[in-house]
Amino acid sequence: MSDNQNQNLQIVLLGPPGAGKGTQAGLLARHLDIPHLASGDLLREHRSMGTELGTQASSYMSKGLLVPDNLVIQMILERITRQDSGLGVILDGFPRTLDQAVTLDAALPAPGINKTLCIKVSETELIKRLGDRFTCKDCQAPHQGLGESGICGACGGELHQRDDDAPMAIQKRIQVYQDQTEPLIGYYESQGKLCVIDGEQSVDTVTECLIGALGFSGI
Ligand code: AMP
Repeated sequence: MSDNQNQNLQIVLLGPPGAGKGTQAGLLARHLDIPHLASGDLLREHRSMGTELGTQASSYMSKGLLVPDNLVIQMILERITRQDSGLGVILDGFPRTLDQAVTLDAALPAPGINKTLCIKVSETELIKRLGDRFTCKDCQAPHQGLGESGICGACGGELHQRDDDAPMAIQKRIQVYQDQTEPLIGYYESQGKLCVIDGEQSVDTVTECLIGALGFSGI
């Protein structure tokens, strides 16, 4: 699908670390032909380029903590306003706090966010997935396990384990999600924009459910 009917769709993907937001955001972006903006990917790019923002964010990220709102909000809003606003966007990993959500609502032109899709996965499953997750050093695509080659199936880059996928950081990130990000579920529900999807189904089924929740037909 690549006609103009999806342009201007502003979608938020919500869910705990390991729920599959990155994978699903990539699939949805291709299907709907709108850009995918992942705050974690942007922060990792800053970190690997050694920018001031990357240096400031680094210690929070490796401990599994949230990077302070002022840094992340500025980074994302700059990116959203820089890109052609007519294209729409799938936001993955942002907002993660109530302040971020409120600032985003104030910054977007009406009608703002169209839909927030929350991918729900149990804590046991998250710990299992994150402990076995390897990420491409080049395109950041997530993989379960290293495979035989240790090479990214999408771009051929080298796979590695992110520092925040270490066991201590995993626990911290899940707790941070429960404390600081879960309140967004109620925030978007009260706006009538929330749709919750069972993230423990196959990747294809989850994608079908997300597309269905947006009111489109299947893959
Ligand atoms: P992710 O790739 O989405 O799991 O994000 C990796 C890390 O980047 C998180 O654990 C946070 O340290 C940081 N991060 C990403 N997005 C945000 C955000 N919206 N607010 C604060 N920190 C963030």
